[in-house]
Amino acid sequence: MSTLPPCPQCHSEFTYEDGGLFVCPECAHEWSAEAAASGEPELRVYRDSVGNVLQDGDTVTVIKDLKLKGSAGVVKVGTKVKNIRLVDRDHDIDCKIDGFGAMSLKTEFVKKV
Ligand SMILES: [Zn+2]
Repeated sequence: MSTLPPCPQCHSEFTYEDGGLFVCPECAHEWSAEAAASGEPELRVYRDSVGNVLQDGDTVTVIKDLKLKGSAGVVKVGTKVKNIRLVDRDHDIDCKIDGFGAMSLKTEFVKKV
């Protein structure tokens, strides 16, 4: 038997490969061998409040006043945050803000500059 994946549509095992596509002879379904081959989990995509993709090193602005836990400080709307670092956490931005130091923000409360 071949090691080709079964048809995702009808689960036939008689799949064959044709020019980078998998083809099912039973239901005629064709699909990309490339997509099927990558078992890698998709890399997380970080998006800001309006859907821009964020990357490490980006500069963002804060879109609402953010109260700081455990202090009276508030990061004001419009505060510019340079050189962000994206992390896989609930607060998914690590950054430093002038006057506040190192802190974590959520991507949904920032906008890419
Ligand atoms: Zn099929």
